[in-house]
This record gives sequence, C-alpha cells and structure tokens, in this order.
Amino acid sequence: MSLLLQYNADLSGFNTLALPARAACLARPKTLDELEQVLAERDPQSPVYVIGEGSNLVIQEDLPGLTIALALDGMIKVRETDQHVWVAAGAGVHWDDLVAWTVEQGWQGLENLSLIPGTAGAAPFQNIGAYGVELAQVLEQVTVMEIATGELTHFPAGECDFAYRDSRFKSRDKGRFIITGIELKLNRQAQCNISYGPLQQHFAGLASGEVTAAAVREQVIAVRQSKLPDPAVLANAGSFFKNPVVSTEKAEALKEAFPQLVAYPQQDGVKLAAGWLIEAAGWKGKQLGPVGMHRDQALVLVNHGGATPSDVMALAAAVRTDVWQRFGVQLEQEPIVLP
Ligand SMILES: Cc1cc2nc3c(=O)[nH]c(=O)nc-3n(C[C@H](O)[C@H](O)[C@H](O)COP(=O)(O)OP(=O)(O)OC[C@H]3O[C@@H](n4cnc5c(N)ncnc54)[C@H](O)[C@@H]3O)c2cc1C
Repeated sequence: MSLLLQYNADLSGFNTLALPARAACLARPKTLDELEQVLAERDPQSPVYVIGEGSNLVIQEDLPGLTIALALDGMIKVRETDQHVWVAAGAGVHWDDLVAWTVEQGWQGLENLSLIPGTAGAAPFQNIGAYGVELAQVLEQVTVMEIATGELTHFPAGECDFAYRDSRFKSRDKGRFIITGIELKLNRQAQCNISYGPLQQHFAGLASGEVTAAAVREQVIAVRQSKLPDPAVLANAGSFFKNPVVSTEKAEALKEAFPQLVAYPQQDGVKLAAGWLIEAAGWKGKQLGPVGMHRDQALVLVNHGGATPSDVMALAAAVRTDVWQRFGVQLEQEPIVLP
C-alpha cells in the first residue's frame, strides 16, 4: 500500500493554473485492483479528492485526506459492425491521445474535441464540448467505482444526466463515484459536424460526407492553437466562466441596448457568449496583480506567474461583479474549486 501513496505531494504539476498546492496523501493507481486497495485502506473519516490533469481546477488550498489521480491507461477496440466501432479507454488516458488514435484509425466522432486538455476519465464529468460537439453524442457508457463500497458499475450515456458542461457526476452524484473508464461509439463512415463557423468557412463547398475526421481534427487544432493560450506556456484553466443562458425577453432587451451582443437561441432560452460580456465590460487583456483575462480570449483567466488562489478568486469576483452591474447577467465559474 505505502508504495502507492505519496505524502505531502506537490500538486503544482497537477493544475494547469499552476497554483501552489500540496496533497496530504496522493495515490496514482495503475489498475482497478490498486484503486480498490487504496479505497479499502483509506481513513473513511477523511475526504477523498479525484483529479485528472487539473486542467479544470482551482486548488484553493492544500488538500487534506486522500487525493487520487488515476493512472489507468489503455485504449482498445471493443467491438464493431459495418457502420460503427466501439472503443474503450482507461480514465488516466490523456484525452487527446485517444482522439488522435481514433482519428488515425479512420474512425469518426471525436475530431471536434481535439486538443481539449485533460484525461478520458474527466471527460464525462463536465461533458466536454467544443465546436458543436459534446462528449454525450458519442459516449456509450461510463464505468465507475463507488468510493464508499469499491463496487464497479456501468452507466449507459442515457443515465448520466448529460447537459451543457454538466453530468450526474458533477451534480447529484458529486463525490460519490470515481470514473474508471469510458466506452465510445464511433462511425466508420465520416459524418463530420462542421456547423461551427470557422469549420464551415474552411470546408465551404464540401458536403460533410466528403470531409474526413483527420481534416477536421487538423483544422480544429489550428483554430484552437490560434485562439487559446497553451497552459504549458501561460498557465490557465481554459474558459473560466460558462456561457450564461438567459430568458428570451432578457436577451432581447440586452440586444436592443447592445446590438453587438453575441447570442445563440437554445431550447431553454438564449445562450450568451461569456467572452463577449467580459470583453465588453472592459476586462480583455486586463491584469489584477499576477493574474489577468487573456489579451486574445477574454474568457480565459491566466496566471502570469506567481499567482495565489486568492489572486484568482479576487479577479474572478471583480469580473463577475462588473458583468453583473453592466448587463444584469450572472456568470457561473466553470473550473471546480478544491477542496
Ligand atoms: C486551454 C484549455 C482549453 C480547454 N478547452 C475546453 C473545451 O474546449 N471544452 C471543454 O469542455 N473543456 C475545456 N477545458 C477544460 C478541461 O480541459 C476539461 O474540463 C477536462 O475534461 C478536464 O480534465 P482533467 O483531467 O484535467 O480534470 P481535472 O481538471 O483534474 O478535474 C476536473 C473535475 O473532474 C473531476 N474528475 C477528474 N477525473 C475524474 C474521474 N476519473 N472520476 C471522477 N471525477 C473526476 C475532478 O474531481 C474535478 O471536479 C479546457 C481547459 C484548458 C486548460
């Protein structure tokens, strides 16, 4: 057991915002047996935290109890038909390695989700999404281990309560399960989704059936690299706020006052571009101490070096207050705050 545990472990490499933090006890289980053992031998009174690569985390202070960063790897084809391929991946697999591997095989479904940082195990937690596609559209099932009992269960996608940046693992079952693996259903024949503006422009004139997953992946990577700061170069946790959904009446009133407002009608209201609101509130490229909102992407909060969690929280609060005062819209933070 002790071989699996590291005490007073440095977590600065486990959060892409590069905040200084330590875990009282860190476990990196490589197999389900090791994970079961770690859970069975833990102090049941102490908290358990599960982290991936920390690309969606704000670690506010040192983590007490047990922190688990799964190292379960492996990507395999599970079964196939003439039209579909089912693939499984361990929770510790780097997400983009899985995307790259499936695209190399000529399988289609994950290409729009290229280059999203993090692990395969974290992907269902907030139902990762980008460029018109969400994980929920390709996910077949999730395998989880219940922290309290060590029991393994499979949840079909339909039982995961997937919504925009949300799932049962983030809401009603928060802290109950460890996602140990995922299974995805991909297409053999390309049916790429190129509805997102920049993809549509790039592939203009081609029917989606003529567009390959490899070509879409290449383009998504190019767009992401031109727009988003690489956390390895400038520490950040991606979009710091979710795009808020407001009522149609509210959106219409805002549009009248601010004709440039970027808004997308949804079934349950109108989704506003949080980046536009933040930029219009004057925060794009602005710094508050060692942290700031990125100069090209107002939605991304960056650590220019040496930031503390309070610097991050102070900037987030200032941005939220300004957006509220100017537009009457509440911004909800996307990264998870630990502990
Ligand atoms: C530059 C950048 C761009 C990004 N772009 C996007 C984007 O386009 N779309 C998008 O959706 N997200 C995006 N993100 C956010 C992030 O990449 C995703 O949320 C990713 O899934 C987080 O993976 P992780 O392994 O780093 O998880 P972590 O940040 O370590 O954890 C996130 C949450 O998931 C939970 N969790 C992690 N692993 C497990 C597990 N095995 N079982 C149970 N719970 C678990 C943690 O407890 C935590 O609450 C971006 C982030 C960055 C830094």
